[in-house]
Amino acid sequence: ASELLLYCRPGFERDMAEEVAEKAAEAGWTGEIIHAAGGGFVRFCLADEQPANGLHRALLLCKLVFARQSLVALPPLSMDREDRLSPIIEQVVESGWTFESIWHETPDTNDGKALGGLAKALSRPLESLLMKRGALRRKAGRRRLHLLWSAGDCVQLGMSFPGNRSEQPGGIRRLRFPRSAPSRSTLKLEEAWHEFVPESEWETRLAQGMQAADLGAAPGGWTWQLVHRGIHVYAIDNGPMDKALMATGQVEHLREDGFMWEPPYRLDWLVCDIVDKPSRVEAMMERWLVRRWCREAVFNLKLPMKRRWPEVSACLARLEKALGSAGVSAEIGCRHLYHDREEVTVHVRLRD
Ligand code: SAM
Repeated sequence: ASELLLYCRPGFERDMAEEVAEKAAEAGWTGEIIHAAGGGFVRFCLADEQPANGLHRALLLCKLVFARQSLVALPPLSMDREDRLSPIIEQVVESGWTFESIWHETPDTNDGKALGGLAKALSRPLESLLMKRGALRRKAGRRRLHLLWSAGDCVQLGMSFPGNRSEQPGGIRRLRFPRSAPSRSTLKLEEAWHEFVPESEWETRLAQGMQAADLGAAPGGWTWQLVHRGIHVYAIDNGPMDKALMATGQVEHLREDGFMWEPPYRLDWLVCDIVDKPSRVEAMMERWLVRRWCREAVFNLKLPMKRRWPEVSACLARLEKALGSAGVSAEIGCRHLYHDREEVTVHVRLRD
C-alpha cells in the first residue's frame, strides 16, 4: 500500500491537500495528491510506490486539522456491478492484509448517502468470504479494513490502526442535540471536549464549581455546556442570553466587548465563538494565555476565505511562537470538527 486516504468535510479537499502535502514534505515525503472538489476525501500517493505506513505514522491524525480519518490505502477499484465481491477479495488477498473488523463507509456527500444500502447489502457476504480466505480474523486485535464507496462501482480499501485513527464511522462524531440548549452551536463545544479532553479526565478538567468565561456567548449554546457541567460562567456579549440559562444562577451576563474584557481572577476555562478575523481572535487568545488568565481554552477561527490552510497555519504558528517566547508551555490542538462549518476549533492547555 503506497497511499494515504484521508476523509474530510466536502468542500475542504483543497485545504486538506495543502496541509497534508506541506506536513508530508516537512517529514521528508513526496507524492501526488489526488482529489475531486466536493468529493469528501483526498488521496496522497507516494512517489516510487514507497510503503505508506511510515508516513501514516509520521502524520498523526490528532495533529492534522482537516482530516476526519486517515488510512493506509490500496489503489481504488472499479468493478462490474454484477460482481463486486471478487475484485475486493482478490485485492485483499494479494495485499496480504489481515484485520479483525470491516467498516463500509461513504463520503459525507448526498451521493455518498445514497450508497448506504449497497454497503449494507455487501457487508455479510464479504465478511464470510474474507474469513474463508483467512484475511478477516476473529482474534483479539484492532486492525480495521475500511471500504470507502464513492460510487456503486467504485471502492477504495484502506487500513486503520488503533491509536492513530478516528473511532467514529466516517470520522464523524454524531451527538444528540440537548433539547434545552439555546442554539445548535452547543454541539461544537461538546464535540471539542470529546476531541481534546480524554473521557477519563472530564471529572477533573470539566469539574463542578470551576470558573469560565464565554466570549461571544449569546444566546448561550456554549454557556449551556459549561453550566451543564456545573461550571460558573461569565457570559460576555451585547446580545441577549437565554432566560432559562440565566435562571440557573450560574451565569453572569456582561454586556461588554469580548476583545477588551479582563477576568477578575484566573479562570479554569475560556471559550470563544466570536465571529471576527482569525488574526484578531488569535491575538486576543495570546494575551489571555501569556498572562495565564485561564488554564484551558477552546476557540474557533472563522474561515470565510478561499485558502483556509495558510490562514490556520499562520495563526497557529503565531500563537506557538508567542507562547514560546513568553516561556509559557502549552499543548495546542486544532481540528476541523464535524459540527464546524467554515471554521476550525483550537484547544490550548497550559502546562503548570
Ligand atoms: N456560542 C454561541 C452559542 O452557542 O449560542 C453563539 C455565538 S455567535 C456565533 C457570536 C456571538 O458573538 C454573537 O452573539 C455576537 O453578539 C457576539 N460578538 C461579536 N463581537 C463581539 C465582541 N466584540 N464581544 C462580545 N461578543 C461579540
